[in-house]
Amino acid sequence: MDSERETRAPKHRRAATAWRVLRGLLMAGIAAVVAVLVSGFLHGDPRITALFPGVSVPGAAQGGTTQAVPPRAADAPPPGLEEADAPLASPPAAESANDSYKFLATNDDGTPVGYSPCRPLHYVVNNASAPEGSDALLAMAIANVSAASGIQFVNDGTTDELPVERREPYQPSKYGDRWAPLLISWTTPEAAPALADKVIGTGGSTMYSLNNGPKSYITGSLELDTPQVTELLADPEGADYVLAVMQHELGHVMGLDHVDDPVQLMYPEIGAPDGLAAGDLNGLHLLSSAPCRKDI
Ligand SMILES: [Zn+2]
Repeated sequence: MDSERETRAPKHRRAATAWRVLRGLLMAGIAAVVAVLVSGFLHGDPRITALFPGVSVPGAAQGGTTQAVPPRAADAPPPGLEEADAPLASPPAAESANDSYKFLATNDDGTPVGYSPCRPLHYVVNNASAPEGSDALLAMAIANVSAASGIQFVNDGTTDELPVERREPYQPSKYGDRWAPLLISWTTPEAAPALADKVIGTGGSTMYSLNNGPKSYITGSLELDTPQVTELLADPEGADYVLAVMQHELGHVMGLDHVDDPVQLMYPEIGAPDGLAAGDLNGLHLLSSAPCRKDI
């Protein structure tokens, strides 16, 4: 590991949510035993969400002509909100073949777990301590990741929600009857302990599946270390590094894991702030064909 990169590169790593995701996968086996009927299951959270299998759904089960309406899980919004019939965008394939990408989670058929490309991903920003000039960088990072992944981000404005270790993905009293938006927080290592030492950002998402079926992400969180980013932005080249950090963390939110190839932005350290590289782009492009989910 060359020392120049060490001194110039802020270290960061994937969020603790990534580890919770693994724990969730283990829990999936338990859910299969416990749930006989359709059951909601929150990956990344050790509690199992049960459905109301007897709930009456208007228009359902009354003669053969009505279209089946997916039942609604407890502690979950009505299924299929804002879900279109087809992906909202068709991002072009990366220009060069490169398999330097990894996914945080895959389904049983080997396909990567991602967000439904048929609905927008809303996000809110806790910008109470955002460094000056960081808004434009965040907007650029989101635009770049959106272009590569096809996920359409919708800015729902600012929030006073604080990052927590286990975020509730459904917060109707705060965000209405929908999945909570992606939470992007400007924060500190004191408030978000995962940002300890040289970790400058963290990010991840929460998986959800019904009846042990295919998993999709429903919301996520991304934390940025305000003091470290402020210090970086004081450097003439700092903005490029900060942009790289934001894109790396958004890559985790989308479902990308770390890779060993230092050329890629998903390398655990930002050594060269050249933006999304071929492996990153190919990984994000594969995530763009995650299944649409009218059922969650
Ligand atoms: Zn990382």
